[in-house]
Amino acid sequence: MHSRDTLYVDGAFIPSTGTGTLPVTNPYTEQVIGQVPEGTVEDVDKAVRAAAAAFPAWAATSRDDRVKYCSAIAEGLKARAQEVALLASAEMGAPWQLAVMVQAGLPVIDFASIEDHIDAVEWERRSGNSLLVRQPVGVVGCITPWNYPLHQISAKVAAAFAAGCTVVLKPSELVPGVAYLLAEVMDSVGLPPGVFNLVTGTGPVVGEAIVAHELVDMVSFTGSTRAGRRVAELASAAPKRTSLELGGKSASVLLDDLSAEELGNAVAGSLTGCLINSGQTCSATTRLLVPRDRLAEVEGLLEVFAQFAPVGDPMDPATQQGPLVSKVQQERVRAYIQGALDDGAKLVAGGPEQPETTPTGFFVKPTVLVAEAGSTIEQEEVFGPVLTVVPYDGGDEAALAIANGTAYGLSGAVWASDRERGIAFAKRMRTGQVGVNGGVFNPTAPFGGFGQSGYGRELGPLGIEEFTAITSLQL
Ligand code: NAD
Repeated sequence: MHSRDTLYVDGAFIPSTGTGTLPVTNPYTEQVIGQVPEGTVEDVDKAVRAAAAAFPAWAATSRDDRVKYCSAIAEGLKARAQEVALLASAEMGAPWQLAVMVQAGLPVIDFASIEDHIDAVEWERRSGNSLLVRQPVGVVGCITPWNYPLHQISAKVAAAFAAGCTVVLKPSELVPGVAYLLAEVMDSVGLPPGVFNLVTGTGPVVGEAIVAHELVDMVSFTGSTRAGRRVAELASAAPKRTSLELGGKSASVLLDDLSAEELGNAVAGSLTGCLINSGQTCSATTRLLVPRDRLAEVEGLLEVFAQFAPVGDPMDPATQQGPLVSKVQQERVRAYIQGALDDGAKLVAGGPEQPETTPTGFFVKPTVLVAEAGSTIEQEEVFGPVLTVVPYDGGDEAALAIANGTAYGLSGAVWASDRERGIAFAKRMRTGQVGVNGGVFNPTAPFGGFGQSGYGRELGPLGIEEFTAITSLQL
């Protein structure tokens, strides 16, 4: 079901105070498949007041009660995992296998893991003659994007609940369905009214009203650096706390000691890390840094590997690459590819044209380019299936300078025959996460950025601490 005519406020599905609606489009068929209310400033006010009224009682709940609710929500999401996958596939084009494993799987982990992480938080500790006590920060506004729509919501909401905070959520207007499903699960487990509130709408209206509301104590935002800047600017008027998870341009670095076989694994792993979720992943490894004397070898491998990422119907389990979320995003990514070619980049695979096999749908061919460090395609976030190979001369120091040489710092990877050398290199990368020799994503390790990738950390015990403030009792 893709049409909804309510919001979720104070424990009830209620209509918006406005009459506007926002369309939901299937990016594979290009057809409008539903609509949701275009929430208003009045809707936000109602939701925030409900969250503020619910806060004292929720903040006073025991550790066991918070765990009980989070675990019940995890069970509820698990029972409806197939629906989550269907919504992610239909509303944003997530390839089916990824939709099942990641789009539907991670949110269950986000809520279920609270049981472990809540006890790893240092809720109280002594410091000299003081007792430091962690308190929930208050009412939290959560604003989320479309690319991992339910995971990005769940990472925030589960941690906020564990900390004792109440929430007003504004999900992406492009992919809102999973947020309603979550509200239904919350309702079904008997979460007290006002602890979770959902208002759909646009960023400039609903998003900004949440950030500006005097009863919102903190905003946890995931999305573009552009919108994140606006959120921080508005929040500074209060001022109130913000946590920003923004864009990225992560580097996968091949050090110069790799054997031919190791190089093959590294190139395959880097391409996978770039193309996951059809390239719409903030932590995607979109730059592949290669010693210049191995460039020809890497290009040859990528030309072959790119053929194993066929585009197609996201609901077909064989599809590796679905469409991008929207026409706007498709055009933006194609313009980046064309711009890179105009700037002299070399095309190894793909290109800016619509894939021949899929004349309909917001598709972009998985594309591999070779470009020099400092070029636009090497510096800016594309947010599509585009890997930029960047040759470097001069050993590890030169590679490190390029890896650290963008405004971003969200994720990364390093590949070395000598593992210790790889770890030493990773420790010098100015970024939030680094996979060493194919180390995989850990949904309980802190996630967040350096530089224009934002600040604050999500997931694991640190993700809970993010929603707390410390009171020092002098004893
Ligand atoms: P976006 O910034 O356009 O939108 C994200 C959310 O912010 C949406 O809910 C949107 O409605 C809202 N928004 C937009 N303008 C706003 C404003 N002025 N005030 C308040 N809210 C506003 O981003 P998107 O296109 O949905 O997502 C893609 C971007 O998100 C990429 O740049 C990607 O790198 C980033 N991202 C980052 C992470 C991370 O954890 N760092 C994760 C996923 C996506």
